[in-house]
Amino acid sequence: MAEGEGFEPSMRFRIRAFQARALGQTMRPLRKMRMLEGTHEIVDAEAAMEIALSEAELARDHGDVPVGAVLLSPTGDIAAQDRNRREERGDATAHAELLVISQRSRDLGDWRLEGHTLVVTLEPCAMCAMAAVWARIERIVYGAADLKAGAAWSLFNIPQDERLNHHVELTSGVLEQQCGAMLTEFFSTRR
Ligand SMILES: [Zn+2]
Repeated sequence: MAEGEGFEPSMRFRIRAFQARALGQTMRPLRKMRMLEGTHEIVDAEAAMEIALSEAELARDHGDVPVGAVLLSPTGDIAAQDRNRREERGDATAHAELLVISQRSRDLGDWRLEGHTLVVTLEPCAMCAMAAVWARIERIVYGAADLKAGAAWSLFNIPQDERLNHHVELTSGVLEQQCGAMLTEFFSTRR
């Protein structure tokens, strides 16, 4: 994959956050997420992110950029988990986030995923961020920022665009280093 196609992570998140503050924008606190209700195995965002990372690892096996996603139900159960399959399927829409949203909707027979949390290793693109809005997902939790294609703060902030009639809570920077390192390593071996 050539540079500039998106997906590439950046470790310059702090600078970006600083610039955002300078512009008078506010962002929700990093690494903060309420504990999910219930006596389930998955009790916090980091635990879910670990699973998303294991999915991302698998994406490399079929030559895909390592991005993984987990969808948590309102009670904190894993409702779906998948990974980027763009190369595997030859499908530009086969992003991890879309796959877990579709899977869950098929399982429930309902496009409304209120109360669900989308956990993904990389900041969602515009397509996936908008899908989360359409599905009325409650929260997106992501690891590494994507300054080149991110649409959950970096280039656009679709989940929190006040012009849209549904807003999605955002939490960023969860296991950011691990998420970013996996991508950096992937791209370094391709150059
Ligand atoms: Zn996407």
